[in-house]
Amino acid sequence: MIDVSPLKGRAYYLVGLGKSGTATAQALQAAGVRIAVWDDRTIPDALQTFALKPGQADYSGFDALVLSPGVPLTHPSAGAARAAGLEIIGDVELAFRAGLKARTIGITGTNGKSTTTALVHHVLSELDVAATIGGNFGTPTLTLSDPGEDGFIVLELSSYQLDLSPGYPLAAACLLNITPDHLERHGDLATYAQVKARIFGRADIRVVTGKDAASRAIAIDVNATYLDVKDWAQFPETPALRGTHNQQNQAAAYTLLIALGFDETAVRGAMATFKGIAHRQEILGQAKGWTFVNDSKATNVDSAVRALQSFENIHWLAGGLGKAGGLTGLYPGFKNVEKAYLFGKNAEAIAAICDEASVPFQVHDTLDQAFSDAMARGQGGTLLLAPAAASWDQFPSFEARGEAFRALVQPYVSEAA
Ligand code: ADP
Repeated sequence: MIDVSPLKGRAYYLVGLGKSGTATAQALQAAGVRIAVWDDRTIPDALQTFALKPGQADYSGFDALVLSPGVPLTHPSAGAARAAGLEIIGDVELAFRAGLKARTIGITGTNGKSTTTALVHHVLSELDVAATIGGNFGTPTLTLSDPGEDGFIVLELSSYQLDLSPGYPLAAACLLNITPDHLERHGDLATYAQVKARIFGRADIRVVTGKDAASRAIAIDVNATYLDVKDWAQFPETPALRGTHNQQNQAAAYTLLIALGFDETAVRGAMATFKGIAHRQEILGQAKGWTFVNDSKATNVDSAVRALQSFENIHWLAGGLGKAGGLTGLYPGFKNVEKAYLFGKNAEAIAAICDEASVPFQVHDTLDQAFSDAMARGQGGTLLLAPAAASWDQFPSFEARGEAFRALVQPYVSEAA
């Protein structure tokens, strides 16, 4: 756990008690820092004594409102905090204010954050450097251990987390790309880009890789090292890192690590042994002429089109909770699609653009039905789950959706093994 005892004597109002909010409350409480907490849904038993309704709080009595990344900035507590002149921050900012000893690497972007963050962490571990990984990736920040002055903390930073800080003091920061996503929270692409650019506010080493206009503009603004498609091409595709987008992620990871002083050959060698992470173009196995690919994390159009461009002869499982920003960005991937099997809330919307592009499709209610239909009708090829939509209409998370797909595929794969 990060030692937050340097914050003793301060007081924080924590709103949003999911995984990271609860971890924050526990860390502060353990260190004897004064807290009050709130969540509109449930407050864990152990925190009940600290419960304080947003309408009843005296905001002048706190040093900051600590908002969970998932709580919208339109929440009543945020409005009241602003009116009282109280700062609004998140758990990552709190960790920095407590004073981290390790140097920190921050990675953001619409897509590729987890992969690049895991890749950087993998290389550091292979090079026997003490390193922990967290932020938007797995472990909540305050639950991480601080590996000390010679070590690194590698943080995946979402736009929500960047929104809750005036700028983190990062040893190295990277922006991968900016494409339409999370516009429900940020309003428009320009505001979303401004929030993403905050990663460079107090960062020493600065790297940008996106070929989109917003990323290019930020690279110039913050005087970052800019990696274009020619730079990405210097990196090999591996079974765990297929597609130009993963060459982009490798270029980003490599450039950050070289700038931090690591040896070029050692970094390239360590990158080659990266095994990838679950739910990102994860090959689940082969059976009956099919290759099963789980890309449940393709929750937006840009990530889904990368998956469609990375495989051939695709029988495509897609659909879920659609996002603002439109679906036409999927077109460049359609030439590889044999047939789409659509499910979930926006199945009809994806069907409409398949229709326009003359891609055969079938509309179903659920992933199970779509899968069975694909297996019954298809003659083999790539059976790819790349939904181009969030999972929350039918699953608690993209992980749960990916695990449901894994369970459907399992009998075929184990029979073939
Ligand atoms: P994030 O953490 O930003 O969501 P992930 O590494 O989890 O990123 O990947 C999310 C999705 O985006 C996956 O479907 C993955 O295949 C795809 N993806 C990974 N890297 C990139 C990239 N650089 N550009 C576009 N899509 C990417």
